[in-house]
Amino acid sequence: MSKRDYYDILGVARGADAAEIKSAYRKLAIKYHPDKNPDNKEAEEKFKEGAEAYEILSNPEKRQRYDQFGHAGNSASGFGGGGGMNMDDIFSQFGDIFGGGGNPFESFFGGGSRGGGRRAPKGSNLRIKVKMTLDEIAKGTEKKVKVNKQVVCNTCTGTGAKDKSSYHTCSTCGGAGSVRRVTNTILGQMQTTSTCPTCNGEGVEITAKCQTCKGEGLTRGEETITINIPAGVSEGMQLSMSGKGNAAARGGVPGDLIILVEEVPHEQLKRDGINVIYDLYINFADAALGTSVEIPTIDGKAKIKIEPGTQGGKILRLKGKGIPEVNSYHKGDQLIYINIWTPKAVSADEKALLEKLRESPNFKPQPGKSEKSFFERIKEYFE
Ligand SMILES: [Zn+2]
Ligand SMILES: [Zn+2]
Repeated sequence: MSKRDYYDILGVARGADAAEIKSAYRKLAIKYHPDKNPDNKEAEEKFKEGAEAYEILSNPEKRQRYDQFGHAGNSASGFGGGGGMNMDDIFSQFGDIFGGGGNPFESFFGGGSRGGGRRAPKGSNLRIKVKMTLDEIAKGTEKKVKVNKQVVCNTCTGTGAKDKSSYHTCSTCGGAGSVRRVTNTILGQMQTTSTCPTCNGEGVEITAKCQTCKGEGLTRGEETITINIPAGVSEGMQLSMSGKGNAAARGGVPGDLIILVEEVPHEQLKRDGINVIYDLYINFADAALGTSVEIPTIDGKAKIKIEPGTQGGKILRLKGKGIPEVNSYHKGDQLIYINIWTPKAVSADEKALLEKLRESPNFKPQPGKSEKSFFERIKEYFE
């Protein structure tokens, strides 16, 4: 076999990590695969060379020996000592490279059905909606939710079979879930794998079905699930809990529980991202003379001071009284927008009073430099 440097063969740096090595080999294996290069001796050599390099560099122990002692380091394992790998070894290595069942030409070069070993059934995902109040959103919450979902059938413990004697290892594939065909080609043995047609990849055959679940292995049931929802979530956000969805029959993996967040609007506060907005109305006497008012916040009531001479449209800010960002310590503010309430109807006495005030020079609008413009206020708000 070749004595070229394994790193050179794969075209990776000596410090390359496992993912880089895998990806480099994957490309090389596809490029020089015998199926793509029929009757090409050189490609076959490169293909084998790459497989050998990968065999060593993907194994931390072998790689360390190789780094220390070079090709001699792994002679005991049969590599580098002239042994080399045969095509079967190479193809069996593909499971970890190409994922799933192993044979790359099925997934990469088209043709053939999906290969692979025993295919355990997978439960479907279950979607639920969870209503969140602003208070819950601000603090994060734990919710106990009762869900109606597919659960493993109690009668047959999920096998779908009537009894033990009606549950057999598949006779076609011997329980492997896949059938293999080995053909001899000029390049050596090639093997193709496909899903077993008898058991559809599950590796078992059922001769008599369970009466309760009609052979499905699943029935409807209820489960109370505790969901932890972090602070800061918002309308439409989806959380997922792995394995909390519908169960799967025959020992398969359950699906996920997908939780869709729904916001319940607050009666007085309005949410804007991480900020909370409150529209405050004060009368014009309070705005002129100053006062203190109680306002709602996420943490209950708070008292705020209105300075004498406060203009309508002013925005006050309560730092850190907003909503946290998801998975962060950063918190928004509460913004208080001040509206001056103008009476819509007045008594005769009030009217006389207002007529008098109208004439006063102090009542003539005279915005100066100290009054922030609308644009400045908006800009400040978004900062
Ligand atoms: Zn089978
Ligand atoms: Zn059953």
